[in-house]
Amino acid sequence: MKLISFWQRITRNRKNKAHPLEQDVNNSAPKIIHRKEHALSRKDISEHALKVLYRLKKASYEGFLVGGGVRDLLLGLHPKDFDVATNATPEQVRKLFGNCRLIGRRFRLAHVHFGRDIIEVATFRTSHDQAGSDQNSGDGVTKDGMIVRDNVFGSLEDDAWRRDFTVNALYYNIYDFSIVDYTGGLKDIENKNIRIIGDADERLQEDPVRMLRAVRFAAKLNFKIEDSLSASIKANIHLLDGVPTARLFEEVLKLFLHGHALASYELLKEYDLLKHLFRQTADNLDDTGDRFITQALINTDVRIKQNKPIAPAFLYAALLWPAVKAEMDKLKYEDLSLLQVYQIAGQNVLENQLKQILIPKRFGIPMREIWTMQARLASRKGKRPLKLLPVPRFRASYDFLLLREQSGETQLKELCEWWTDIQQVSEEEQLTMCKKVTMGGHKKGKRPPKKKKLKIVKENG
Ligand code: ATP
Ligand code: MG
Repeated sequence: MKLISFWQRITRNRKNKAHPLEQDVNNSAPKIIHRKEHALSRKDISEHALKVLYRLKKASYEGFLVGGGVRDLLLGLHPKDFDVATNATPEQVRKLFGNCRLIGRRFRLAHVHFGRDIIEVATFRTSHDQAGSDQNSGDGVTKDGMIVRDNVFGSLEDDAWRRDFTVNALYYNIYDFSIVDYTGGLKDIENKNIRIIGDADERLQEDPVRMLRAVRFAAKLNFKIEDSLSASIKANIHLLDGVPTARLFEEVLKLFLHGHALASYELLKEYDLLKHLFRQTADNLDDTGDRFITQALINTDVRIKQNKPIAPAFLYAALLWPAVKAEMDKLKYEDLSLLQVYQIAGQNVLENQLKQILIPKRFGIPMREIWTMQARLASRKGKRPLKLLPVPRFRASYDFLLLREQSGETQLKELCEWWTDIQQVSEEEQLTMCKKVTMGGHKKGKRPPKKKKLKIVKENG
């Protein structure tokens, strides 16, 4: 029978190989939770993920749902995406699906496309210790133990032990709809624990991004980071500085754009990780700045719950605002206009930030626009405000201004009210509002001195 031979294959695999992490567990036989003993139902799995699983099965490959899909469904949540694990190689997966692209160098996997929905299909991997020295094809570990390529294929069991956290290493088997648990993930789900698989220091050294992933899952699931992992994050935190800056950009978005931004931020501060992502913000975070970011993230979480879009540029602009303010303080003694101070401060902060996180230009440009619009919103001479209202970045910049006021920045109340009102009145009334504010501005015969041409001030530290 197919099912029996399937399990015999897995058991044989286990008996033949002594897994390097086996000493950590009493028994490496997986816990199998049969269909009638768990609540994960096929009707909760996306039809595309099911299609992929059934196609793999039909071609006699092993096929499992794994990762967030299983974890979140067991917790009664809606998974962000569905990941599939199989013994078919990426090439074999590609042959099976017309709508398939192979991606990734560090971690090669197949993306099966269904319109805009993508199912990620990964071939079982083995740990790097397990691979041995004869496997030189896909293995890549630096002398510090960091994995730079992770393409050595293995069995289901190998695959389970090389995943990051126990709660992420549960497999839903398409052959019999059971759940396979090698690492104790079910117990950790029950106890609300984020536990890393294997030796915490080693696993964080292999991939320091796992520190951010631990924070992300703890924030998302409201789980506790288990003590030895917690201690290991503190001991290895500096390793984050060696992670490619483009990867950190993606990880930061995952921390903040999935409905648990505030909880992520709190944990990043608690673990001192904020400094390794946004050094300038961490160095200049006062109560007002902290309130500003907190409020921005509360709003972000609410918008996500309401299925409203979030602009990454707004998020990054908010996370760096305490740094921009500090930079402006340094510049204000220069002979510069308000607009110039905002422009130069924004440019300096962004330039420094790029050393930590590679923010693509398509986000960097609107971030700077949101910052410099703060100066433009403050200067309401003549008909200038009317020119700002239709500008694409107006709405985000106005929201940003309101947030600044709410978080306790002083002398913004009247300005915020004025901008709120002007959006709600007729064109005629808008003109009257502009006239009034101009008349109430500087007194006749006392024009402010002309400002110098824009000069770029280099950062001093
Ligand atoms: P979500 O999709 O909800 O963010 P997820 O757990 O599915 O959470 P993914 O980033 O989609 O996370 O990864 C899928 C699975 O791949 C994880 O659950 C984990 O088993 C494994 N994985 C991902 N990244 C790593 C990593 N850096 N180290 C080890 N295993 C990883
Ligand atoms: Mg996932």
